[in-house]
Amino acid sequence: MECNRFESDGMSLLDGEMTESGKVEYEAHVQTCDRCQTELRSLGRIVGMTSELRLRPPDDEFWNGYWESVYRRSERGLGFLFLCVGILGLLAYAVYHAVTSPEFLTYEGLSVTVILAGLLVIFVSVVRERYYESKNDPYKGVRR
Ligand SMILES: [Zn+2]
Repeated sequence: MECNRFESDGMSLLDGEMTESGKVEYEAHVQTCDRCQTELRSLGRIVGMTSELRLRPPDDEFWNGYWESVYRRSERGLGFLFLCVGILGLLAYAVYHAVTSPEFLTYEGLSVTVILAGLLVIFVSVVRERYYESKNDPYKGVRR
């Protein structure tokens, strides 16, 4: 006949609800019972997992890290914005110059203009992608 003691005694042992004498008595039984040994081992693993998964309440360390990451993110966002505005301005200026230059309608002038226009389009698309990614970042607000 199969032993079912792990269902009652095993659970109270793992939950720490067992009396000292009951613990000694049941542990002695486990030494000789394969069923209890196997079940306790698997139960122990599950119990250990749920307590590891239990969420810690936010403490000071968490909030310090949180504000630090918010600050760092906005700082970097601002830097990125300045960089974009600067590069866009430069590229637009260069394109404008190329278009209004008397050499615009030469072979070289047109080539330079096309290259600059290409750079401008690539840059705008990179910025748009970056902006879209940052808006949809699933890890936003999570410490990495
Ligand atoms: Zn048993």
